[in-house]
Amino acid sequence: MILDMFDLGGKVAVVTGSDTGLGQGIAKAFVEAGAKVLGVSRSPSTATQEMLGEDNFKFLTADLSSLEPVETIINTAVETFGRLDILVNNAGIIKREDSIDFSVENWDLVMNVNCRTLFFLSQAAAKQFIKQGGGGKIISVASMLSYQGGIRVPSYTASKSAVKGITMTMANEWAKYGINVNAIAPGYMATNNTQALRADEQRSAAILERIPAGRWGTPDDLMGAAVFLASRASDYVNGFTLAVDGGWLGR
Ligand code: NAD
Repeated sequence: MILDMFDLGGKVAVVTGSDTGLGQGIAKAFVEAGAKVLGVSRSPSTATQEMLGEDNFKFLTADLSSLEPVETIINTAVETFGRLDILVNNAGIIKREDSIDFSVENWDLVMNVNCRTLFFLSQAAAKQFIKQGGGGKIISVASMLSYQGGIRVPSYTASKSAVKGITMTMANEWAKYGINVNAIAPGYMATNNTQALRADEQRSAAILERIPAGRWGTPDDLMGAAVFLASRASDYVNGFTLAVDGGWLGR
């Protein structure tokens, strides 16, 4: 049956940035589809655990601006739930500053969380998938700024363009192990990440006017794409960045 292909029963996922926003929505989608989830976030994912239950969702508090937690994350997933099948690289930050004054600190911080750790966590997950022998799924959260330049966010644009690129690189090298590497590019979603934009009346109106769907997206809007890319239904989808953007890119 076609719906069985979307079933995540028996699967174990790591979702970074699981305490709020899009990562919380993805964790919820996976648990509803039958998976066990280890969440990773800067502040404790207590609210997510309350929502999903302790049997289905455990969490780790870690700072992904360095590579230090990478090994612990993979080991904790395997020790807690016995294996690892899915990694979602969702944790990400944005720093807004005119490019002419943009600081090295804001460059390094964003690149480290959004790109450097994302790659090395993916590498560690892929090693675990290869060791287990049954393939696996890696899904990274990209952005409209994987395609466009944006304004006042040079390190964010650099990092998200890199996410789209290395998603293809990893897919090219790891497809032979049954590992699917893909990304989701959300449009403009109502989360903490866009709080400053939504608070700026002019920018907010300009953005809203350009979205064909006529509204900001919500974490629920990503649930279908996340489950698809995590499930058997996407076994022949490799290296693609799927926009979930209310039509933004088509304009
Ligand atoms: P958010 O700010 O609510 O969530 C960011 C998440 O990243 C949080 O869970 C936080 O714990 C985690 N995080 C940030 N820095 C971390 C660190 N150093 N260590 C560990 N965890 C860290 O925003 P969101 O919109 O839910 O963002 C999720 C992802 O979606 C990000 O990668 C973001 O760039 C991307 N995204 C968001 C939008 C949007 O419109 N909201 C659009 C495109 C892409």
